[in-house]
Amino acid sequence: MERIWIAIGSNFGKPLKQVNTALSELAKLPKTRFLACSSYYRSRPLGLQNQPDFLNAVAVLDTALTPEILLNYIQAIELKQGRVRKANRFGPRTLDLDILLFGMRTIVTPRLTIPHYDIYNREFFLYPLKELSPNLQFPNGVMLSYYLTQVPYNNLTYWNEDLSITTHIPIR
Ligand code: AMP
Repeated sequence: MERIWIAIGSNFGKPLKQVNTALSELAKLPKTRFLACSSYYRSRPLGLQNQPDFLNAVAVLDTALTPEILLNYIQAIELKQGRVRKANRFGPRTLDLDILLFGMRTIVTPRLTIPHYDIYNREFFLYPLKELSPNLQFPNGVMLSYYLTQVPYNNLTYWNEDLSITTHIPIR
């Protein structure tokens, strides 16, 4: 078994429902044990600004699947939940699942880049990771805590269904 961290994002088609469904699907993966999910966060969209905020979370699991087979499974979950691959990859999406880390492996193939190519820069990956694995060290030897000092919150808050409520993340 290897420990893996999967990022979950949605900003379309009832994000809360999408993310809850995706988590229950991840919990059913074969040869895999679901360990925990972070809090749910709200982030501002990257790229196209004229679209709803994203609900983001990260799940941690142990798996005996290979990275490519895991990718097949998570792409099937995305498709089942109505994901349509659009021309603009930064446009709205019902469900986006990204493999952030697969143990301490570094993988570069036509289908996979692990660690995720932008893991070091996105607050909506780094802060949920901190909740799950505060002492995490990346395959490049650098600590998660270092990147957290470099990347601001960028308006990241906890997710509330009621948009009139904003719950800020405690200052680190
Ligand atoms: P996106 O539209 O941003 O979800 O990108 C999907 C594509 O990214 C798929 O074709 C995957 O093969 C590729 N990909 C590369 N690295 C990863 C990764 N770490 N996790 C998920 N998909 C990945």
